[in-house]
Order: sequence, then C-alpha cells, then structure tokens
Amino acid sequence: EAEMAYAESLFALTPDFPEPGVLFRDISPMLADPKALRTTAEALIHPFSGQFDIIAGIEARGFVLAGVMAGVCGSGVLPVRKAGKLPDPAGYVEYALEYGTAAIEAPGVLKPGQRVLLVDDVLATGGTLAASRTLVQQLGAEVAGAAVVLELEGLGGREVAGEVHALFNA
Ligand code: 5GP
Repeated sequence: EAEMAYAESLFALTPDFPEPGVLFRDISPMLADPKALRTTAEALIHPFSGQFDIIAGIEARGFVLAGVMAGVCGSGVLPVRKAGKLPDPAGYVEYALEYGTAAIEAPGVLKPGQRVLLVDDVLATGGTLAASRTLVQQLGAEVAGAAVVLELEGLGGREVAGEVHALFNA
C-alpha cells in the first residue's frame, strides 16, 4: 500500500560501498522519517504478533528497529552484538564471511524457553541471521521468527537463514 511504498522510497543507495561492485543500501532516511519508521516497525511485527516475548536486534541498525518495535508492541529488547564489545557475553557464535570469519555475542538476559523474534535491516547471504538463530538456541531460548526490512535476492540468503519475513526485495 501507499505507506509501504513511501517507506521503500526512502532507502539510500550507494554504489561501490564498502567495496567496489557492491551497491550498499542504507535505511537511515527511513529511520529518520516518523511515519515510515512506525509503518516499518508495525509491518515487521505483524506476522508474529503474540508469538514472541522479546525482540533481538542485530548490530547496528537492528538495534534501532528492535527498539521501535518493542515500543510498539510492549516487549523487551536483546542486543545481538559483534564479538568483543560485551564485558561478559553469555553466548558466542562464529560464522563464515566471503573472506574470513565474523562472530556475534549476546548478554545473558534471556530466560529459558523465551520466544525471540530476530530483526535486522538487510538479509544478504544469510550468515548473520543463521548465526543469530544459533546464538538464541545456545542461550536456551527459542526462535519465534526472523524479520528484515530488505532482502537482497540472488544471494541465497533464505536458504542459509531459514524462514524470513522480508518487507521489501531488491
Ligand atoms: P549476511 O550475513 O546476510 O550476508 O549480511 C547481512 C548483514 O550485513 C546484516 O547485518 C546487514 O546489516 C549487513 N549488510 C549486508 N549488505 C548490506 C547492505 O547493502 N546494506 C546494509 N545496510 N547492510 C548490509
């Protein structure tokens, strides 16, 4: 509908960032727009309404989305951090990048069996979301679902990350 089309129109596209050949998509203009931000947060929550207890936002734009979504639906937030930033991480998952590896961590705040909704801005190869699923399970909680604003098609992300609710495709 019109509100979603408006939100989609607010992606900023930057060619050759962070490296040549990559078209980087930035949701910052969408985050800066009150209506688009609200619409997006509600649309990310919608299919999972009543099915989760807490929202895990993946660093860094996932933090913002998770915070707004939590405000809308009255849940809490779990920050999924890039490794090395937390004083006392409760979980650690390493995953493969195109070149090398990355790792994520989370603080030990989940209760056993808590249902966690994962959220990030962009789904690319799916590695980050797949690792986040593993992290939640490692922490003794349950993945209720995964939502992203934008899915980059043709990278096979969905096969790696499992079921994902994507608002937009590119
Ligand atoms: P993946 O692990 O799916 O390959 O990559 C997803 C992660 O990289 C996400 O955390 C996402 O924020 C980031 N990412 C990959 N491509 C883009 C992009 O074009 N724009 C933005 N903002 N993030 C991206």
